Amino acid sequence: MTAIAEAVAGGLIGGRLWLYANYHCNLTCAYCLTESGPTVPRRELPLHRLPEITEEARAMGFTAIGVTGGEPFLVRGLPNALDRMAAILPTLVLSNGTFFGRALLSQLAPLGGRDFKVQISLDSAEPAANDEMRGPRNFAKVVEAIPRLIALGIGVRIATTTEGLEPAALERLCDLHRSLGIPDADHVVRPIVRRGRAVDMGLGVEAGPADLPAELTISTDGAFWSPFGPTVHGGRLDTDLLLTRVTRPLTRPAAALLEVAGAGSSRPGPEQPRIC
Ligand code: SF4
Repeated sequence: MTAIAEAVAGGLIGGRLWLYANYHCNLTCAYCLTESGPTVPRRELPLHRLPEITEEARAMGFTAIGVTGGEPFLVRGLPNALDRMAAILPTLVLSNGTFFGRALLSQLAPLGGRDFKVQISLDSAEPAANDEMRGPRNFAKVVEAIPRLIALGIGVRIATTTEGLEPAALERLCDLHRSLGIPDADHVVRPIVRRGRAVDMGLGVEAGPADLPAELTISTDGAFWSPFGPTVHGGRLDTDLLLTRVTRPLTRPAAALLEVAGAGSSRPGPEQPRIC
């Protein structure tokens, strides 16, 4: 068994390796960790590196891949890369759910029935409350996109980011995702983390290394302790959770993560899924 496989099996680190595909986005959400938007630097990981890193991750003992951003589906050619990645490890891609028109759906069709899921953000069952944080017509686009993906045989998870939902509001949201065909096990509810734009908006909870599970995260800027690491505030990359600028070969940042995780203790933090 590899050192990574042992650490994953023992719960020292998470089995999912996260990749920041890019930083740009068509939305400008109020709590965005990365200050993403249409005009920010793209800072994309080279597309060909995504399957390469996935293969390295599998060989080292990681058990799954997560792709995040920015809005990953703004990266040209991403569906083809995801097709290759999902053949190597179970793959999850996070999305704001606004691009699932006919063209993208036809590119994603080969991923139907595979070990591949799309995690889409949806913060409220009330369109106005959702769109206040995420932008005009976001709710409508998301509830249109989910059945289209499910019809292709693509699994969908819902991620709700919130300052705190009243029980009745949470129940309405759960009723909505169930009506769209998404089971409770695929609904993640998590607090806003006070990083990125959330700092300026006075939103969210503070989260440091002790609050965040160790999950190796690779961006174009380096390797980080957690997917909450390579955030941006005031246009500058946060480096408090940076492990190393060296990401090739993957053994280098993985060793750095193991060293730090082995020196302390990780415990479940804000991103841990909560079931409805
Ligand atoms: S939270 Fe997600 S969808 Fe919203 S601006 Fe940031 S990257 Fe885009």
